Amino acid sequence: MNDECYNRFKKIDKIRCMFSIRKDGKYLFLVSGSSNTKYTVTIENKWIRCSCPDFKHNFNKTVCKHCILILYDTLKLFKIDHSFWNRKFFTPDELDQLKLAYKENKVKSNNATIDNPRRKIIKS
Ligand SMILES: [Zn+2]
Repeated sequence: MNDECYNRFKKIDKIRCMFSIRKDGKYLFLVSGSSNTKYTVTIENKWIRCSCPDFKHNFNKTVCKHCILILYDTLKLFKIDHSFWNRKFFTPDELDQLKLAYKENKVKSNNATIDNPRRKIIKS
């Protein structure tokens, strides 16, 4: 994990995954940001992406904290020294691991905090 990535890693305790769903071969995760904002992390084929501005502007340097939260904390897929953080795409083996990790760590909807998570994910 480079410094850009590690700086984001240090912030993941302030955000959390509220809901996840697997649909048409895609994985979608709804993540609540530090200031009540919500972003969608999507994993499709070998790519991960996020709807936040940081991801859009800095993907050449690092993935955003929302992607780190999902892969490190929610799915427990990669530790901080994993080569994924510099590579930023999944190998076929990692996609197999992802499938298992998703089954084990799927995040069910939390109605107390989001009114309709399914609709929000599809919209974004
Ligand atoms: Zn993000």
